[in-house]
Amino acid sequence: MRAIRRGARGAAVAEIRSILVVLELLTDDLPLSSDPEFDDATERAVRAFQQSRGLTVDGEVGDETWRALDAARWRLGQRALFHTVADPYIGDDVRQLQERLLEMGYNPGRADGIYGGRTAHAVAQFQREVGLRPDGECGPQTVGALRRLGRKVIGGRPQLLREAEAFRESGTSLLGKRIVIDPGHGGPDTGLVVPDGPLRWVEADLVYDLAARLEGRLAAAGMRVNLTRGPAPASVLSDRDRVQLANELGADLLLSIHLDGHTNPEAAGVATYHYGTVSGPTSVVGERLAGLVQREIIVRTGLRDCRTHPKTWELLRLSRMPAVRVDVGYLTSPTDREQLVDPSFRDRVVDAMMAAVQRMYLPVEADVPTGSIDVSLLRTLTASA
Ligand SMILES: [Zn+2]
Repeated sequence: MRAIRRGARGAAVAEIRSILVVLELLTDDLPLSSDPEFDDATERAVRAFQQSRGLTVDGEVGDETWRALDAARWRLGQRALFHTVADPYIGDDVRQLQERLLEMGYNPGRADGIYGGRTAHAVAQFQREVGLRPDGECGPQTVGALRRLGRKVIGGRPQLLREAEAFRESGTSLLGKRIVIDPGHGGPDTGLVVPDGPLRWVEADLVYDLAARLEGRLAAAGMRVNLTRGPAPASVLSDRDRVQLANELGADLLLSIHLDGHTNPEAAGVATYHYGTVSGPTSVVGERLAGLVQREIIVRTGLRDCRTHPKTWELLRLSRMPAVRVDVGYLTSPTDREQLVDPSFRDRVVDAMMAAVQRMYLPVEADVPTGSIDVSLLRTLTASA
């Protein structure tokens, strides 16, 4: 086309100006009905645009500048993208998509802003791994899935992508969801044992008590609940067996409960663990559950905050659902122990775990401040969710 330059009028000028306005290089101060002119302000905006794109800066809109402007108006999600051989989609939205796929370990080819065959292939692979129809088209569902899977999911652990999508698709109600609660140790494996005068406190027994209280409360809220063991099992299940049980049951969540211990009686507090490595892939859903469990317990019990941590333990790594392990205080700490052996304190811990599970299923926009869910109202909340 002939270059459009200062003094020109017409539909093409109106379109150029509207793109420059979207790009915030030009303010739109003209009445709608006017036939805008390619004025000084437009020329300055075109120059700024050319500068930012590494184009020849001449203030005129020739073929190359026009193609760049046409591409620049698109933001990912504004139009559906698919592969056509004859007239491929070109735009900044395509480049955003390609960069996102590259970050996540897919191979759409070079991030050149052109929706070619390799990009479509990478989109289909992503779709298959998050459980969408692998048609290679980038529509609203695919854009939504790309947006939700935060930057943390990088480096080829497709399982984590599937986990996040499956969790989202399972809906916001607790009713009918299955949770597996795993009281640590059991039977011949007592876990920590701390003598206290004539008494001895046993981790396996205390965490079983917590699990049993939580089981009753979650079942009353309409969840399907399984424990990995009874109060006094004949043999010990390995963590691998426990997670396999949760997988076979098709659980939606796995919550493992332990107590911590240290030779230093000063060591105290609660910590929660989810699957992940410090710089590598992380279960985003597991991390969210861990954060909620941790914060609710801190707010409701006043235990010291030893924060959440990514771990690659089998219990967390082999699960097909979001899984967390919480160490609810140190049995070796006199202050923590005094609280843990008090049944009403353990009820508060269970309240906190209930609230965390409930908040996992509330849509983000309906979420509530930590410590504010009245868990006696859970039934009502879940019924209306
Ligand atoms: Zn333990």
